[in-house]
Amino acid sequence: MAFQRVAIVGLGLIGSSIARAVGERLPHVAVTGHDASAEVRTLARELGLCDTIADDAAAAAVDADLVILAVPVGRMADAAASIAPGLKAGAIISDVGSSKAGVADALAKALPDHIVIPAHPVAGTENSGPAAGFATLFDSRWCIVTPGAGAPGEAVAAVTGFWQALGARVETMDAAHHDMVLAVTSHLPHLIAYTIVGTASELEEVTESEVIKYSAGGFRDFTRIAASDPVMWRDVFLANKEAVLATLQRFNEDLTALQQAIRRGDGAKLEDWFTRTRAIRRSIIEQGQDDAAPDFGRKH
Ligand code: NAP
Repeated sequence: MAFQRVAIVGLGLIGSSIARAVGERLPHVAVTGHDASAEVRTLARELGLCDTIADDAAAAAVDADLVILAVPVGRMADAAASIAPGLKAGAIISDVGSSKAGVADALAKALPDHIVIPAHPVAGTENSGPAAGFATLFDSRWCIVTPGAGAPGEAVAAVTGFWQALGARVETMDAAHHDMVLAVTSHLPHLIAYTIVGTASELEEVTESEVIKYSAGGFRDFTRIAASDPVMWRDVFLANKEAVLATLQRFNEDLTALQQAIRRGDGAKLEDWFTRTRAIRRSIIEQGQDDAAPDFGRKH
C-alpha cells in the first residue's frame, strides 16, 4: 500500500516540514494542506508548501489516502472531528503528537470507523509556524509509530514506509511505553529548561542583564529549549501528566542526592555522576543523534 494523496492538517513547523519533505522525496504524491489559521493558509500558499491549500479541513481530507494531523496535542480531537465529513472509506489517519496514549484515544473516539495509526517524529526545533519548517527535518531522526491492538499490519507498514521515505528511522512501540520514554528524553528536559530560565530571570540578586551577558556559562543552552512553543508544550504536559509526574519524582530524588553530595563535600559522588553523564553525551554522538563539534558547532 503506497499513498498517492496525502492531506496535512496543521501547517506549522512539523506539518510544513512534512509537506516540504513529501515535495522533495515523494514528488508523485499529491499534497493537500489545511490550517485553522487564515494567516497560516495565506503564508502556506505563498511558500508553495502543498499542491492545494483548502480553507476547510474536510475539503482537505477529501480523496486523501493518508491524513496527518499536525496540530497541538490538545487540538487533535477537534481536528479529527473536522476532517471526518471528508474522509473516504479506507483512508488512514495519523498524527505527529508528542504524547501518544491520550491522542490515540481521542482519535479513536472521533473516528470510530477509520484506521488510525498514531506516530511521533522525534524531530523538531524551538521554532514554530510554516516558515520554520524544512524538508530535511526528519533525516536520520526516529519516528515512533504506536499502532493500537488490532491495527491492520498493512496500514502500519504503509505509515512506516511513508516516514522512511521522508528520511526517518522508524520504531514501533506501545503508546504508554512511548509516553514514559518521551517523558524522560523530552518532556522532563523541557520542564527543567522552562524552570531554570524562569528562575534565573527572577533571581533578585542577579540582574537580568547579567544573566544574559554571562549566559554562555551554561544558561544559554537551556534557553534554546525554553524558547519552544508555549501552546504545544502546555498541551504535552497536560496530556502526558502521569508519566511526567512519575519522571519528575525520580528527578527530584536524584537532585536531592546531588544536593546532599555538595553539602557533604562528597566529591567522589559528584565526579562519578558527571562521568556517567559525559558518557551519555558521547553515546548520543556515536549513534548519530548529534554532532561531535564542540559547543554544538557554534562559531566563536
Ligand atoms: P505549530 O508550529 O504551532 O503549528 C501548529 C499549527 O496547527 C498552527 O498553525 C495552528 O494554528 C494549527 N492548528 C491548531 N488547531 C488546529 C485545528 N483544529 N485544525 C487545523 N489547524 C490547527 O506546531 P508544531 O511544532 O508543528 O507542532 C504540531 C504537533 O507536532 C504537536 O502535536 C506537537 O506535539 C508535535 N511535535 C512537535 C515537535 C516540535 O519540536 N515542535 C516535534 C515533534 C512533534 P493556530 O496557531 O491558529 O492555533
